[in-house]
Amino acid sequence: MNVLLASSEVAPFAKTGGLADVAGALPPALARHGVDVRVIMPRYPGVEKAAENITTVLPRIDVQLGTTHYACRVDATTLPGCDVPVYLVDIPTLFDRPGLYQETGQDYADNHMRFGAFCKAIAWTLIGIGWMPDVIHCNDWQTALLPVMLREDPQISQDAELSQIATLYTIHNMAYQGLFPPESLAALGLPPRLFSPAAMEFYGHLNLMKGALVYADILTTVSPTYAREIQTPEFGCGLEGVLQGRSGDLFGILNGIDYDQWNPADDAYLPAAFTPDDLAGKAACKRELQRELGLPDSPDTPLLVIISRLDPQKGFDILLPLLQRLLQQNVQLAVLGTGLAEYEAILRELSEVNRNRMSATLKFDNGLAHRLEAGGDIFLMPSRYEPCGLNQLYSLRYGTVPVVRHTGGLADSVEQAWQDGSRGTGFVFGDYTSEALYQAIESALSLYRQPTAWRQIQRRGMMRDSSWAASATRYLDLYHQAQRHRRA
Ligand code: ADP
Repeated sequence: MNVLLASSEVAPFAKTGGLADVAGALPPALARHGVDVRVIMPRYPGVEKAAENITTVLPRIDVQLGTTHYACRVDATTLPGCDVPVYLVDIPTLFDRPGLYQETGQDYADNHMRFGAFCKAIAWTLIGIGWMPDVIHCNDWQTALLPVMLREDPQISQDAELSQIATLYTIHNMAYQGLFPPESLAALGLPPRLFSPAAMEFYGHLNLMKGALVYADILTTVSPTYAREIQTPEFGCGLEGVLQGRSGDLFGILNGIDYDQWNPADDAYLPAAFTPDDLAGKAACKRELQRELGLPDSPDTPLLVIISRLDPQKGFDILLPLLQRLLQQNVQLAVLGTGLAEYEAILRELSEVNRNRMSATLKFDNGLAHRLEAGGDIFLMPSRYEPCGLNQLYSLRYGTVPVVRHTGGLADSVEQAWQDGSRGTGFVFGDYTSEALYQAIESALSLYRQPTAWRQIQRRGMMRDSSWAASATRYLDLYHQAQRHRRA
């Protein structure tokens, strides 16, 4: 089976979120199953810092969208540590910019042309290199035009080989759909009839994600619970009806985590290593972390940690109101995050008022993220919605017991702990209220005071299989299903 994974970001070359992690980690796992898998992404400035041996494979292809022509070059490298090829589509007029999608908080106005040209370049790249995938795996709005173009673009849909390719489309977050003015459709060179409610029209806008939901052969999202949730008005962001209409083709597959990057037994960011059978190193990590953050050296005080984008999605409107009350107890709290200025200001002020109990690091710091996962006791993730979530998976693996809301991938990865420690891996609450979150934190603190039961919960979480192996098998099954579906 030949599979091409198309993504606007791929770790370690370019990353703004979880999509990059999936695009960087799923292909090697598929390769281990014998799939001829390749990856394609735009060439942004700085990609060469993480890429080795970049070679040019297609010096010049012409990409036409409507009446606009773009000169494009295709380079190739491989994912680090394996030989999965990565094609880099170089269209300097569109991608040689400081941001991936935006600058100073403003989306680039021509994002439809940027990613439309990328999608079209993918088709011509396949012809140019003479390698045809059985399935193209597309992700999020940036590559949502590809399933549409394979069937409806006047040039691509006429090609005998391209038109045979099946597509699987993965939704990483329903909140980002790629909405553009109606005239964008003509600029992209697609037929005017696609601006209809049955295709890509969405409340007077052109909706790229909707195009993929209509045209892709198989749809997936990143957890089984989120797959159900997005078919409801609360989580579907206006596309729940389209998703309900395709519920037979919609599947949820939980993301894995990169075990090479996130392994407490061998993590270069940590002062000490530890395993489920020997947690002594975790105590050393906690001691060092307290020193690094300027918190009192106190081995028995429960250390609660948060690593998060500071975004309403992540539950800050129920978390922030209870922090002052929480900090009156014998606890410590360490927050790492960037995002909304309003949340940053509240966290900064709270940490200044509670210097002995709380630290707030308002920046992006991957090393500190690893040390917080290792040195913390309890991880807080009270998301309003969470397609999959990675931090709760890292927490489980690092013996930092998660407190999560029962939604999306959190519901699928954390199992409620029993007070005797005999079952479960964390603490799960349902209502989206400060009180429900507070009660869940109280339950965690109460179990923390029973070391034997606590160790059992920690160990069970650390042993959970969050590797990509199982998820890769599920994707492979669905690639076959997409192929059958396509050819039927
Ligand atoms: P989302 O993709 O919605 O932001 P996830 O939990 O799926 O949430 O993934 C977030 C990723 O970004 C994790 O790898 C997490 O460690 C990392 N991260 C988020 N904020 C920071 C930060 N301020 N510093 C370092 N890493 C961060």
